[in-house]
Amino acid sequence: MKCPVCGGLNFYVKDPDDEYETYEFELKEGGASFASETAAAKPPDVREQTETYCNKCAWHGKFGALTKN
Ligand SMILES: [Zn+2]
Repeated sequence: MKCPVCGGLNFYVKDPDDEYETYEFELKEGGASFASETAAAKPPDVREQTETYCNKCAWHGKFGALTKN
């Protein structure tokens, strides 16, 4: 599991209620791993259909698309 474009492992998702609020996470062991301070901010659940954005490049897509790599 990694970004299909740049190979990066760091991504973020947007708050479904506030698109300017973002939550960064790292891909680890097949799932989204939030840093403890991010987890404390109550990030949304990252599901197969969650729109996910790469931290390093312009790639974005469904979280489920990452797990197919
Ligand atoms: Zn990328």
